[in-house]
Amino acid sequence: MFRALILEKDADGQAMAVVKKLDDAALPDGDVLVAVEYSTLNYKDGLCLSATGGGLVRTWPHVAGIDLAGTVEASDDPRYRPGDKVVLTGWRVGEAHWGGYAQKARVRADWLVPLPTGLTTRAAMAVGTAGFTAMLAVMALEDHGLTPARGEVLVTGAAGGVGSVAVAILAQLGYQVAAVTGRPETEAYLRGLGATRIIPRADLAETVKRPLESEVWAGCIDAVGGAMLARVLGQLKYNASAAAVGLAGGAALPASVIPFLLRGVNLLGIDSVLKPFADRQRAWGRIASDLPMAKLDAMIRTATLAELPALGAAILQGQVQGRVVVDVNA
Ligand code: NDP
Repeated sequence: MFRALILEKDADGQAMAVVKKLDDAALPDGDVLVAVEYSTLNYKDGLCLSATGGGLVRTWPHVAGIDLAGTVEASDDPRYRPGDKVVLTGWRVGEAHWGGYAQKARVRADWLVPLPTGLTTRAAMAVGTAGFTAMLAVMALEDHGLTPARGEVLVTGAAGGVGSVAVAILAQLGYQVAAVTGRPETEAYLRGLGATRIIPRADLAETVKRPLESEVWAGCIDAVGGAMLARVLGQLKYNASAAAVGLAGGAALPASVIPFLLRGVNLLGIDSVLKPFADRQRAWGRIASDLPMAKLDAMIRTATLAELPALGAAILQGQVQGRVVVDVNA
């Protein structure tokens, strides 16, 4: 038997979350059984935990949690043996397949990545999809020529999960980091992570008035989308890139093509869900080497399974600072 946060529909068709005990036989099919140690909370988890499942969950009862880390308990796949430490993000786990908000998960071996040396399962979940995606964005910007010598890098939605990890990694790599936040009270936190400039959200929230503004940013990691990303495109330096990661501020992109045509800027799409294994391994390796654990610790709050419904609602309202680590055994 194991404990899980089960999402079930009530008589009105609204999903409700309850911590319950389940038998291993209730788990979905898969070739690796993982004793989950930690999971986490991402924006997408907030959607899955909502009363409608956010359009991501289609069948109930369901176990949410798009990320998990733990120890292999049993494996039918030669790549994994009992005792191996593993991490899982993406692949629609927690949406279409039962996820990490449980003490056990049965998953496909193809979805797993061996935990890199130097990371604990707890640290891996402090990183989670949000931090993993922040690293993918850093790597994409580097692949398109970003170096610290090119100038200041902008991070939007900076006090959130993706933003916090992006700020910490970029600062560690020697970048000047400008952090956009709508929460002025997070300034000390963001400076602690390595931000060198704080920009109020309102300064970038207006829709594009002029397609080109002064060239300011050597790159951007954008968790917000919408009018803010459109505005940033017109402020990128010649040949610079923005990595589009999220839509916390909206999915529309009310932009002009002029920055692409006259400044050769790039808009790089970042997807963490279907990343091939080799890229995942490379990104986790970079996380282990380039993300200072002391800064990661400064971003974390720990939660139990029972606290997740309230935290899910909070993350959808942009009220969660940094990263939440879920101790599924607490
Ligand atoms: P968080 O809620 O932790 O962070 C989002 C941050 O965006 C908030 O903390 C807030 O930062 C800012 N924000 C919220 N609402 C608005 C708004 N209306 N206008 C401007 N800024 C706003 O979420 P995550 O960091 O987990 O995820 C961020 C985004 O990235 C989400 O859209 C998520 O779906 C996406 N994502 C995409 C992935 C991919 O594979 N492409 C993977 C992971 C996440 P502040 O208070 O500092 O302003």
